[in-house]
Amino acid sequence: MRLGPSRLIILSNRGPYTTAVVRRRVVARRSAGGLVAALEPVLRSQGGTWIAWDDRPPGRRRPPALTDERGPFSLRLLPFSEAAASNYYHGFSNRVLWPICHGFLDKCRFDHVFFRDYMRCNLEFSRAAVREASRRDIVWVHDYHLALVPGQVRTLAPHLRTLLFWHIPFPPAWVFKAMPWAREILEGMLGADLIGFHTQDYVRHFLESCRVLLGLPVNEARGEVQFGRRHPRIIACPIGADVEAFDTLARRPGVLLKAHQLRKSLGVDQIVLGVDRLDYTKGILERFLAYEIFLKKHSQNRSRQVLVQVAVPSRTRVHDYALLRRQIDETAGRLNALYAEGSWVPIRYSYRSISRESLAALYAAADVALITPLRDGMNLVAKEYVASHTRNDGVLIVSELAGAAEEMEEALIVNPYDLEKVADTLRRAMDMTLKEKTERMQALRSRVLSRDINWWVREFLRAAGFSLARSDVHRGAARPAGVPFEPAAWIQPVGRLGVREAN
Ligand code: UDP
Repeated sequence: MRLGPSRLIILSNRGPYTTAVVRRRVVARRSAGGLVAALEPVLRSQGGTWIAWDDRPPGRRRPPALTDERGPFSLRLLPFSEAAASNYYHGFSNRVLWPICHGFLDKCRFDHVFFRDYMRCNLEFSRAAVREASRRDIVWVHDYHLALVPGQVRTLAPHLRTLLFWHIPFPPAWVFKAMPWAREILEGMLGADLIGFHTQDYVRHFLESCRVLLGLPVNEARGEVQFGRRHPRIIACPIGADVEAFDTLARRPGVLLKAHQLRKSLGVDQIVLGVDRLDYTKGILERFLAYEIFLKKHSQNRSRQVLVQVAVPSRTRVHDYALLRRQIDETAGRLNALYAEGSWVPIRYSYRSISRESLAALYAAADVALITPLRDGMNLVAKEYVASHTRNDGVLIVSELAGAAEEMEEALIVNPYDLEKVADTLRRAMDMTLKEKTERMQALRSRVLSRDINWWVREFLRAAGFSLARSDVHRGAARPAGVPFEPAAWIQPVGRLGVREAN
């Protein structure tokens, strides 16, 4: 079966575009990230709507919805009050579901007001989806911000086919159970006909939660839960990276030159790289401490390598994140003060977001990627690093607590809490022969390249009973994110945009 006449209604917390006012004109820019790049062409070929939260400051919310007037694909942005948005997003999503699903119970704040507004905002999404969808359309819900939507959509429009992909880990039942609303969240998710996770472990945890917390019969072999008269299916479908973008960028002369200049300016034999959102799940602090052990153990040749760490600002309004930022800053400062030799410092730390092109140059320049999250649903940086090593060089060290490790057995796998072992593995990576590096990277590349983001879209929809031709999924050269695109449709004078109110 093809997607046929079905349109896609995609729901996610953040929309595929950000808008900015440039010289009194509203400019839409495609958000960075592979998901948007992979889904947008499917939406364009099938038609449909992308529904997301309008997170622009209230003063900039004109218009609340943009419509691409050239085609059937439209975008609807839902404006929430500041208080509701804060409880839904900063509160329940980021201070309850995010920490509990990553196993950080001590970071959870179980506040009933958070849940009340999470429910309300989810309902706004669900109503918008039901208004947009016709009987044969497919509603595809993304991520933990919208866990209640499948159940709400089923109540409002039982005939609609709904899919859910959960982009973060799903914890064991005994962890999930600590959340006062665990049952409501599970029932909400079970409104979907198909639920996808990155790994088989997350599938098992979810099934176990349905059995233990809801008392439902589950069939682990078939990945099915009996929920009333329905049998939602649960599958593992690991998301892939935007391989084409990074592989293409890493071959561009401009990017190669940038990588070369970077190596030259750092003036070391080996570059070790970490790239993460600044989040307590990413293990940045622990990584610095493991690196300190490494520096102590190998004091003779210290200045032969440098750790380049990019930390992308994230959730800065949440206290735990602000605190962590300070701790990371202080630790980098301490190590640099303690171990500096002449103009050499052991850590080059930057707290900012960088362009994809600079990221590709960094990946290409790095001899070792040190990716050690304490828990991560997948970790796309690991896959992007591999995609950028077109000459099969480079060594990937990856945490066994990241979903990516399941597909990357040729990487050096570490427990990120075992700092001594991480330090020793770093030494091993640096001393690895070219032959071993090449063999490992070749094997990694063949898997990462074949299971990219477009594979993931096709595979998930195929599991839902729909097939997509390869040509329906974008396979062109990398389109740079963050650059205004299709100006005719998207750049218009302020106040004269095609507006459709969303409420
Ligand atoms: N990334 C980015 N800007 C940066 C650094 C990273 O857009 O300055 C991207 C990176 O290319 C990757 C994503 O952020 O696609 C991070 O994804 P990952 O799965 O590693 O972690 P997440 O942030 O989703 O937890």
